[in-house]
Amino acid sequence: MNEYDSNRIFDSVKKIGYEKTEKYNEANCYLLNTCHIRDKAKEKVYHEIGRVKKIFRAKKKPLVIIAGCVAQAENQEMLKREPYIDLVIGPQSYHKINDTILNYTDKKKIEETEFDAVSKFEYLSRIKNESGKKTSFLTIQEGCDKFCHFCVVPFTRGPEYSRPFNQILDEAKSLADQGAKEIILLGQNVNAYNDDGLKLSDLIFSIEKIKDIERIRYTTSHPNDMSDDLINVYKDSKKIMPLIHLPIQSGSNKVLKLMNRKHTIDEYLNIFDRLKKINSEIEFSSDFIIGYPGEDENDFKDTLNLINKIKFINSYSFVFSPRPGTRAEKLKQIDKNITSARLKIIQKQLLENQIKKNNSFENKIIKVLVENQTDDKTKLFGRSEYMSSVIFDGNKNLIGKFIDIKILKSNQLTMFGEIDQISKMKVA
Ligand code: SAM
Ligand code: SF4
Repeated sequence: MNEYDSNRIFDSVKKIGYEKTEKYNEANCYLLNTCHIRDKAKEKVYHEIGRVKKIFRAKKKPLVIIAGCVAQAENQEMLKREPYIDLVIGPQSYHKINDTILNYTDKKKIEETEFDAVSKFEYLSRIKNESGKKTSFLTIQEGCDKFCHFCVVPFTRGPEYSRPFNQILDEAKSLADQGAKEIILLGQNVNAYNDDGLKLSDLIFSIEKIKDIERIRYTTSHPNDMSDDLINVYKDSKKIMPLIHLPIQSGSNKVLKLMNRKHTIDEYLNIFDRLKKINSEIEFSSDFIIGYPGEDENDFKDTLNLINKIKFINSYSFVFSPRPGTRAEKLKQIDKNITSARLKIIQKQLLENQIKKNNSFENKIIKVLVENQTDDKTKLFGRSEYMSSVIFDGNKNLIGKFIDIKILKSNQLTMFGEIDQISKMKVA
């Protein structure tokens, strides 16, 4: 979502004359879009400002804008802690960014941190989303009312908000007109989407009617919002991809309760079984928080067992990070040596499962959406239905096309292959 937001901020400031520059040392404005989900992300922001300060020590100071969730959470604190910052603008105030910049004078620090998602999306939908990418993000929902005890999202992104259905469809059509073939619908709880009774399933079926869009994905979803209609999408949709990112956080019911997740392991497994029955090729990915206060060795083993049962194709795992203002902030922390040892074990297991899965595609032919050339421009790069990167030789005219690739070898994240000869003839 931060990538989507950054692009939309850029779509906006372009209107008042800003351009992107690779010349880091010559920029007259730095705009940092920030994440507050874990503490490390916040510290990176201050570190980055330190770097900018060093570069400009002997030169005229650039305009420094902090956008995103750190800006929302720290607001005035940021302006006090780091006087080098000029403007602080939270994620629901991007519609004000142009005026804020234009009204800025160097005597006046400005903070914009109201929650006003309606105005923001009305404004952003008037400015074309110029992603121009074959795989494009599209935010449909923001914020959260669930208040898991570890999480800052309800405080930084505000209450759950679903964008108007037609506003989203217009953006999807415009992305298709610019060449998008795949759309990734975004939200902190994307499957809680509800615009006056129109749900995520309705959106998926409407977007799939756009001829040029051939793949649809959504992220991130919450187990409690995997409703029957959404599960049935996997029966009836021809364009939904068979990979579901459905975070579970822990394999222990006790820890889930402590986290205030409001779902159990059995409920999660039930969703897994129902989807596998519909299509055995569907794969799951997840998020895990390791070392949540109260997690003991047995809880940790339960998480390992769950990982081995579900065989997640790809997952994110992090040590618990206490966040300001959350219920878990003041709980007794688990010793760092224990949590980092647990994280290592979990990540090793996740990695093994992931490598096995990728290896299982070797010598098979899979459909790949060609996204771009590799950075060194020697090969092409695309994605499988399961989001794995696939690298192969080919002409750059193939960018934006779907092509059958025979997988020759693979590692954790990437598969390497060659264009299937029959597919090559069809594309030619
Ligand atoms: N809404 C989604 C859900 O409920 O599963 C998750 C969205 S959250 C923005 C993304 C991920 O960040 C979470 O799934 C969680 O694993 C991780 N996360 C959130 N707060 C965290 C914390 N305090 N420490 C470590 N990881 C955290
Ligand atoms: Fe955070 Fe997701 Fe829980 Fe909401 S449901 S509080 S976004 S982890």
